[in-house]
Amino acid sequence: MATCLWLRSCGAPRLRSAPPGRRLRPRASRPAPAAGPAACPERSSLLRKWYDLMIQNKDDLAKIITAESGKPLKEAQGEVLYSALFLEWFSEEARRIYGDIIYTPAKDKRALVLKQPLGVAAVITPWNFPSAMITRKVGAALAAGCTVVVKPAEDTPFSALALAELANQAGIPPGIYNVIPCSRKNAREVGEVLCTDPLVSKISFTGSTATGKVLLHHAANSVKRVSMELGGLAPFIVFDSANVDQAVAGALASKFRNSGQTCVCSNRFLVQRGIHDAFVKKFAEEMKKNLHVGNGFEEGTTQGPLINEKAVEKVEKHVSDAVSKGATVVTGGKRHQLGKNFFEPTLLSNVTQEMLCSHEETFGPLAPVIKFNTEEEAIAIANAADVGLAGYFYSQDPAQIWRVAEQLEVGMVGVNEGLISSVECPFGGVKQSGLGREGSKYGIDEYLELKYVCYGGL
Ligand code: NAP
Repeated sequence: MATCLWLRSCGAPRLRSAPPGRRLRPRASRPAPAAGPAACPERSSLLRKWYDLMIQNKDDLAKIITAESGKPLKEAQGEVLYSALFLEWFSEEARRIYGDIIYTPAKDKRALVLKQPLGVAAVITPWNFPSAMITRKVGAALAAGCTVVVKPAEDTPFSALALAELANQAGIPPGIYNVIPCSRKNAREVGEVLCTDPLVSKISFTGSTATGKVLLHHAANSVKRVSMELGGLAPFIVFDSANVDQAVAGALASKFRNSGQTCVCSNRFLVQRGIHDAFVKKFAEEMKKNLHVGNGFEEGTTQGPLINEKAVEKVEKHVSDAVSKGATVVTGGKRHQLGKNFFEPTLLSNVTQEMLCSHEETFGPLAPVIKFNTEEEAIAIANAADVGLAGYFYSQDPAQIWRVAEQLEVGMVGVNEGLISSVECPFGGVKQSGLGREGSKYGIDEYLELKYVCYGGL
């Protein structure tokens, strides 16, 4: 029954396997969109079964995330739920793919807009959300009628494979959700095959801006549709009118989730002169009280290890660069005694824009504080980045809230709030933070083609 539900079995060719030692040779053209309508109740119910199985197996799935990434178990449990919700959300969206009828000035014609699945989607994901970054893409793709080939990060392949097992159990036919784990040394070659093979119609990537640019370059030759969720440099602005306690709670939540290794983690704290000292003092106190470094499986751990030693080296480099240029270590500042992949949650003050941590994504547990005087100055510093994913600010002045929310050059804004991700809301960035949006009612559009049909002779 189910095999007629996805594009591949509706006429699009299968992805081929290369013989050992040989590369795939691109074919001349990519498949046209599927003929049938995109909305499909059967796909919806299969996605819903997949969601149900994720919930039934949530404890095991969370343990897999902690084992492969070091993420504290409680956070991993949160990720599993967040991840499963994308399957539930898109199982519902699968039934709501609508077209349009357009009335033009020509009385003997009617114009229709059909929505059709794009085709085979190649999905390349990072290690920091080994499950949710997959379902956010795959839920939308499968709901639209596309098939997927997922290349997970080398460090975290097991969540992707566990999802495959549950997809099988849900009754999703073989060949619809495909996983190709590979080692880091092969990632470049696999990425090139996925991005250049004409059988692939869509590339959806989450990862660094540098890798995103390489994939865009590869995808250009066959003009594929692309979605890019790339790096950020989130500003977290605290204005004089802010409530200090709320701002510090938001700062802790937005900075230290997954030990600072999320793309929406605050990277730069901009704090207005009048509230600066109170904010820094309280932030340091709350960090010491609430952040506990340890093994992700141990009760009470809030800060696990970083993903690898290279990640620790980057945090170390940002701290030493800042200190050498005049920053002050308020708390933390060095590797943690637990081992080479652990770093102390660190707060720096007297940070300036010349320091690396102000203009490079740290992706670790470092909170650098820059003092500013005026709203204009804060906006200018925040917008100086060439990326724009998330931004946060705390203010109790309604006019300022509107002004700043509208002026920040980012895709997502948290106003008096440090946690903003939700399956119902569009996730994505502007500038070099990416292209397209995931989740929400907009996410499915990334996997659909519009076809205009002009119906004449009426
Ligand atoms: P990354 O190095 O770009 O890796 C991401 C994925 O791309 C991994 O699967 C990686 O494989 C693969 N990859 C690397 N080079 C490749 C190439 N030349 N061709 C094809 N695939 C390639 O990023 P990361 O350091 O793992 O992840 C952190 C970055 O992701 C941060 O910049 C963060 O802001 C961003 N991120 C963005 C979002 C968002 O939604 N905007 C969400 C999460 C993370 P290997 O693991 O095998 O190297």
